[in-house]
Amino acid sequence: MQASWAIESFARPDARSVPPYNAGLSAEVVRARYGVARIAKLGSNENPLGPAAAVATALAAAPSVALYPDAGCGALRAALAARLALDPARLVFGNGSEDLIAVLSRVLLDHGDEVVTITPAFGLHVICPQSLGATVRCVPVRPDWAIDVDGLIAALTPRTRLLMLSNPSNPVGSALDAREFERLLAALPAHTLLVWDEAYHEYAAADPGYPDCLALLEGAGHPFVLLRTFSKAYALAGLRVGYGICSEPALAALIDRLRNPFNVNALAQAAALAALADRAHLHASVQHVVEERERVRGRLIALGLAPAPSLANFLFFDCGHDAAALGERLLRRGVITKPWREPGYTRCLRVSIGSRDDNDLFLDALDGALGEMAHETEG
Ligand SMILES: *Cc1c(COP(=O)(O)O)cnc(C)c1O
Repeated sequence: MQASWAIESFARPDARSVPPYNAGLSAEVVRARYGVARIAKLGSNENPLGPAAAVATALAAAPSVALYPDAGCGALRAALAARLALDPARLVFGNGSEDLIAVLSRVLLDHGDEVVTITPAFGLHVICPQSLGATVRCVPVRPDWAIDVDGLIAALTPRTRLLMLSNPSNPVGSALDAREFERLLAALPAHTLLVWDEAYHEYAAADPGYPDCLALLEGAGHPFVLLRTFSKAYALAGLRVGYGICSEPALAALIDRLRNPFNVNALAQAAALAALADRAHLHASVQHVVEERERVRGRLIALGLAPAPSLANFLFFDCGHDAAALGERLLRRGVITKPWREPGYTRCLRVSIGSRDDNDLFLDALDGALGEMAHETEG
């Protein structure tokens, strides 16, 4: 039956104009679609080592799934607050930090408000504000891939409600040093709240040049939410737990009012608590990435490519061709990557650091695919 209405007309204009999120393909889909047996899933920045062994034990011992979870994430809150040495009332929890980006946007943004971020950007830093009718100003990274602090400062206006970006940045991997971060903080007007997304904090913290952003924020006396997640270095992406550290308890209370009351499920809370306790596994995960990242970087350079500096668990580079076409050729070889889609960056590809074998599969596939593409361009 043909509907007599246009379903899109039911949506708010802001909702209608939101582009779909580019979530990438699952291993199952690639296996079925391309008929390849071995898959290297390097499109979503997941941890190839998997979670700490204690996570499986904690899941088996978790409270009954027949019961609603603890709406306040009490045990996890207490453990994190102790680890970070701060007031537990300053923490907020989300169904992944993505959930917190959405909730924060709902709390803070109204029609006509402006948000400043960088480009290339983490998709939700743009999509969530846009869905609420806010205008997003995107400041391109510099030619050397560094985050452009002067550009960010120049983009701030009397209507800028939010400055929101990831550091290290996703997809580029570059990060501000302490001096640049302090310069940015000093330039923030009183009406602009900072959302500092440190999804890759655990990886970046292994680098002696990476600043203690939380300490610098505490010293700056400016309202902020620092976002972190259990999805990346803690390897719990499938369970969905992220958290925010707020500048003050009153801000956490505001966010709590607009979130779903039971946004972090019981298994996720138990798993995150167990993962947090195993520091040795976290250290091993970070060490693996640091070593493999530099090995893969060397191989990319040997192929004539110039990956951006990265403090995270991925590398980003201009592949010299349409990245979507390259990504497709990699898929045929069983390698899932993330060809970038933002205008100006469609020749760029982001690849996660996986197991040593998966990284080798990627490097061989890339070599083969680039060879084919060069040959076709000549021919
Ligand atoms: C992966 C990622 C997130 C999302 O993490 P979840 O906690 O899984 O929702 C948030 N921000 C950035 C920059 C990311 O790369």
